[in-house]
Amino acid sequence: MENSLLALLKCNACQKIALSDRGSSLVCTHCGHAYRVIHGKPVMYENEAINGIERGESHEVPWRFAELLADEHKRGLNLGAGNSVKPRPNIINVDYLLYKNGDLAVDAHNLPFADGAFDVVASFNVFEHLSDPLRVSQEIFRVLKPGGKLIIHTAFLQPLHMEPHHFFNATEYGVRYWFRQFDVERIEVSPNFSPLLNLAWIASIIQAGAKFLDDTDREKISQLTLDELARFWRDTSTGREVVWDSEIFNLSQKLPVSTRNAVGGGFELEASRPGFVGE
Ligand SMILES: [Zn+2]
Repeated sequence: MENSLLALLKCNACQKIALSDRGSSLVCTHCGHAYRVIHGKPVMYENEAINGIERGESHEVPWRFAELLADEHKRGLNLGAGNSVKPRPNIINVDYLLYKNGDLAVDAHNLPFADGAFDVVASFNVFEHLSDPLRVSQEIFRVLKPGGKLIIHTAFLQPLHMEPHHFFNATEYGVRYWFRQFDVERIEVSPNFSPLLNLAWIASIIQAGAKFLDDTDREKISQLTLDELARFWRDTSTGREVVWDSEIFNLSQKLPVSTRNAVGGGFELEASRPGFVGE
């Protein structure tokens, strides 16, 4: 393991920078905690399920990340890198599993890095999958140098994906809330998130769900135009809004539960507080 990486690593058991490379493990010389090393890649949190290197597909990293790290003396962290190829060598790739192109397995909520270890942190298509995004934002803040840069891609109206590990789709204001400790310089919809592309994803899921309907209903859903849908929502010529007993509404009710859960507009939850209800 490279000494430059070892010098950045924090023992999450005792919070000290005191890890020693023992080949098949990293051992903390302060508290004695041992971290497994698999095929040269440390596993920095408890996850017995990690026993090898994931194959995983490799997403291309947005060019802006590489641009921010053009200075070779800077150091970058790609949080949730999956199997992405590093666009520059001065980047550390981490994910919750080990990948061929990854360096370490980490829990994003407890990053095993020293304070101020990085000049740039990137995290692409990860935050919707985190159980506590605010906590991870605070961890990124901690491991960034003062003045360090953050670049994030995260979901807003995307359909359900990677379930059950898809927790929070955020509006612009939700994203701003998650990263409120930072000075936001720019927040915009990047080309990969553009509206028609997103609508196409949703449409493809609805079309797949419509396969479970009878031929007539499936054909009706498939032939719906943007114009018909827009007028179903609100007919601008008459001012009439959604008609709850119209053909489109009724077709929508026939779509299977998996489709409703993937691209529905929201959920109705009914719950009870556990415990005995008295007479
Ligand atoms: Zn320790």
